[in-house]
Amino acid sequence: LQQQLQHAQKMEAIGTLAGGVAHDFNNLLQGIQGYTELLLLKSGKDESRELHQVLRAAQRGGELTRQLLTFSRKMESKLCPVNINQIIGDMRVLLERTIPKMIQVQLHLNANLRQVNGDGAQLEQVLMNLAVNARDAMPDGGVLTISTEEIAFPDHEGKILPEMVPGPYVVLRVADTGVGMDQETRERIFNPFFTTKEVGRGTGLGLAMVYGIVKNHQGHIVCDSEPGKGTAFIIYLPAIDLLPDQAKIDPATDLPGGV
Ligand code: ADP
Repeated sequence: LQQQLQHAQKMEAIGTLAGGVAHDFNNLLQGIQGYTELLLLKSGKDESRELHQVLRAAQRGGELTRQLLTFSRKMESKLCPVNINQIIGDMRVLLERTIPKMIQVQLHLNANLRQVNGDGAQLEQVLMNLAVNARDAMPDGGVLTISTEEIAFPDHEGKILPEMVPGPYVVLRVADTGVGMDQETRERIFNPFFTTKEVGRGTGLGLAMVYGIVKNHQGHIVCDSEPGKGTAFIIYLPAIDLLPDQAKIDPATDLPGGV
């Protein structure tokens, strides 16, 4: 618990700091981007290559600062009943575009899944961040498996997870057959700004964000990984005690955190 508290405090401090810097920085970058676009319209062939490079760098900077901004808004979640399977289904096209052909994507979705009290946009982000990491871990191809199931008690390979209240959970598992991680790496992956990727490729914010979002959903995340074999992220989200159809008819107003 002490460790979790420290982690939360650290995230908050970094979030506040990053938010302040990112906001100003984003404005500056938009200036650079706008003027470069103008210059591109006026320029001849000679300069256009370099100008495109400036533009790409500014765009990349913009992406990074936007990520920082999202991170710093403390990721307030707007929770309402959502079906994880549907979120995965909605993301199919985007996933296909992100994952190269040499990686095989397998979906194993439990059709009778209960809903969770969730923020659809944030859960999409969770899935995307995990999928991008899985892709990066499989430069020579492999298999990405996304699966959902429902369990009665929060138990991870026979071990009860003590920090979780009993009750039905929806389990989302994202697994790859990639490079895997050693223990030293595994212990640091949820720390903001921890990355093993080369400069310009990784921000080290992806999993910190995933962690924050899962916690906002009263959920829990576990990582299993072995060097050379692959990695699996397992997310446990409390299931709502409603059948999918009931949840659709019933507005979310009575549910804790409902909108
Ligand atoms: P980033 O992807 O920008 O590096 P993340 O927070 O998403 O930031 O990930 C942090 C680090 O965790 C990565 O740099 C990588 O070393 C490790 N990692 C995350 N996911 C995987 C995975 N599926 N396989 C192997 N390593 C991973």
